[in-house]
Amino acid sequence: MTGDDPAETEPRPESACRFCDGSATSLQVVAKSPNSPGTPWSARSVVHPKPLYRIEGEPDRRGDGIYDRMHSVGAHEVLVENPRHDRHLWNATDDEIAHFLRLAAERILDLKRDPRIKYVSLFKDYGKNAGQEFSHPTSQITATMFVPRRVLYELRAAREYFVGKERCVFCDIIQQEERQAQRVIEARGDYLALCPYAPRVPYETWILPRYHDSSFERAGLNRPGLRMNLAALLRRTLQRVRSVTEDFHLVLHTSPSSIHPSKNLGYWKTIDDDYHWHIEILPVVQSKARSYTFKEVYYSPVSSETAVKQLREAKIDG
Ligand SMILES: [Zn+2]
Ligand SMILES: [Zn+2]
Ligand SMILES: [Zn+2]
Repeated sequence: MTGDDPAETEPRPESACRFCDGSATSLQVVAKSPNSPGTPWSARSVVHPKPLYRIEGEPDRRGDGIYDRMHSVGAHEVLVENPRHDRHLWNATDDEIAHFLRLAAERILDLKRDPRIKYVSLFKDYGKNAGQEFSHPTSQITATMFVPRRVLYELRAAREYFVGKERCVFCDIIQQEERQAQRVIEARGDYLALCPYAPRVPYETWILPRYHDSSFERAGLNRPGLRMNLAALLRRTLQRVRSVTEDFHLVLHTSPSSIHPSKNLGYWKTIDDDYHWHIEILPVVQSKARSYTFKEVYYSPVSSETAVKQLREAKIDG
């Protein structure tokens, strides 16, 4: 049997998605993780098509009154979490998610080696109410010559607590939460998912290592066993969050770059002891949009205890 199938003779239509494997759009690939069977790569990092920061050029920092003016030097990358368009961090395999986590760690480490870089952020905005940019499963990384303000507040608060008590505030939170067992969603190996005591938004959820570690990208991620536990906990936690709402922000908080510390300011001298990396998931719940911020005081209409109960009981698979 023979015939001219028009679909065969015509050129294949371009994939509408630039990040899908086989897309005709050429991307500036920065790094990729080793491929799993049947795919050319399992996660990869590409330069953002419209970068907010560029690595080329000198910062040319100069004073202008009390302000520092500088060009936006830095890096802005898209982390393609999976070659497949329909495999998200909540429905991919733990192995695929672990590949993504390892790539993220490698990119952060690599960007921190640049002496101009003070902080590397990893974040994901998902859903139309969260400002999602691409339909493909992606996260983004920015490397900046400054520490973002929210992170800076948190770093300073952690340092102050450490100066006063000589203990890591996050380790203290973990100990108390594990003892009280009121706001813990799930523990998985060395990782914990919990709803913080004073959430900024309803169903705010954190994922932290149970044992002290200031940098996501350094220690634990070199151990594949740990990475698989983190991958599973991240997947399961996102499934729980999605039982409440599709839209969320996810941000990784890790230590700032301390490879080239400022000699004058003496910043981050105790960072390895006073800071504890974690992932923050901030769900966007439209019906509960009454939460507001006033000078960093947050009000959430859903208590952590109620949120935990609901998230714990959410139906998830595997
Ligand atoms: Zn795609
Ligand atoms: Zn700690
Ligand atoms: Zn944080």
